[in-house]
Amino acid sequence: GAKRGGRGRILRFDPVMEEELHGRLSLVSRLAEAQSNGQFSLVYQPQLALSDGTTFGSEALLRWQLPEGGWVPPDRFIPVAEDAGHILSLGEWVLRQACLAQVRWRDGAVGRLRMAVNVSVRQLRDENFVRGAERILTACNADPRDIELEITESHAMENDQVLAMVRVLRGMGFSIAIDDFGTGYSSLSRLQQLPASVLKIDRSFVTDLGTLPESRSIAATIVKVGHELGMTVLAEGVETAEQEEILRSLGCDAVQGYLYAKPMPAERFERWILERSPERSPEQSPATVS
Ligand code: C2E
Ligand code: MG
Ligand code: MG
Ligand code: MG
Repeated sequence: GAKRGGRGRILRFDPVMEEELHGRLSLVSRLAEAQSNGQFSLVYQPQLALSDGTTFGSEALLRWQLPEGGWVPPDRFIPVAEDAGHILSLGEWVLRQACLAQVRWRDGAVGRLRMAVNVSVRQLRDENFVRGAERILTACNADPRDIELEITESHAMENDQVLAMVRVLRGMGFSIAIDDFGTGYSSLSRLQQLPASVLKIDRSFVTDLGTLPESRSIAATIVKVGHELGMTVLAEGVETAEQEEILRSLGCDAVQGYLYAKPMPAERFERWILERSPERSPEQSPATVS
């Protein structure tokens, strides 16, 4: 496109850019009303221990359903919400809903599970985040040790303000997970400084585990580094038994992926848990479940 500096500057967009810009603008304007109109919901994906297959936690994932039908994937609207600043109120809503579900399960038949919640770096830069999180924990009667904040590995981790914030959250009792590990650019020294207890191997390496020796080497290295730093290592996006077997041989601790379950609405997640673990609900022995 043509560009001229100063006043009267001309910006020409090619059709793809224009489409992109228009799409983002309409998303921004629709994001604001989406929250008040109840178009957001959470789905939950189980996290399992590789040693015995028990489900110890779940990850809450945000869904946006448009009133005219169809879904906008989070990879599309989260970056827009971050740019528009809307992620602050949306992120608070997510944390509250996730805490409410965790407490409901804890106090009901499902039992105590850890709830992982994705947190944008934009939220970690907000000075009101800690106060908001405290308010939510109190209002929901949630124990921060049961709530895991997932932070995506990125350049932003090199930011000292973000590091300080993660330490405060850890000090409050939250568990911290590093998401999408291996795709960002954070240094190993920064990883060492972060008080994280879980390291999540990015799906891209898991996908190619059986076919690319490089992916297997990277996964093996992440497991070693994580264990060296005293962390639990969880592989995301496990889709095949072969991938699971390789991860087991590498000493990976935990898994999450379509092989076990897709993200599910709360009621389906509850049923999934109860059907798989009859010992959790004695009145529903496998013989009586049809
Ligand atoms: P993520 O946190 O790395 O979440 C994992 C993504 O992988 C999810 O996509 C999940 O549905 C998908 N997934 C899980 N298992 C499999 C599998 O076996 N195969 C495949 N192909 N995919 C699998 P989703 O729900 O579309 O979310 C995409 C990203 O959007 C998330 O990546 C996270 O970065 C972001 N996101 C989602 N919810 C929130 C939220 O509440 N707040 C923030 N800040 N970000 C969120
Ligand atoms: Mg995540
Ligand atoms: Mg992510
Ligand atoms: Mg991830």
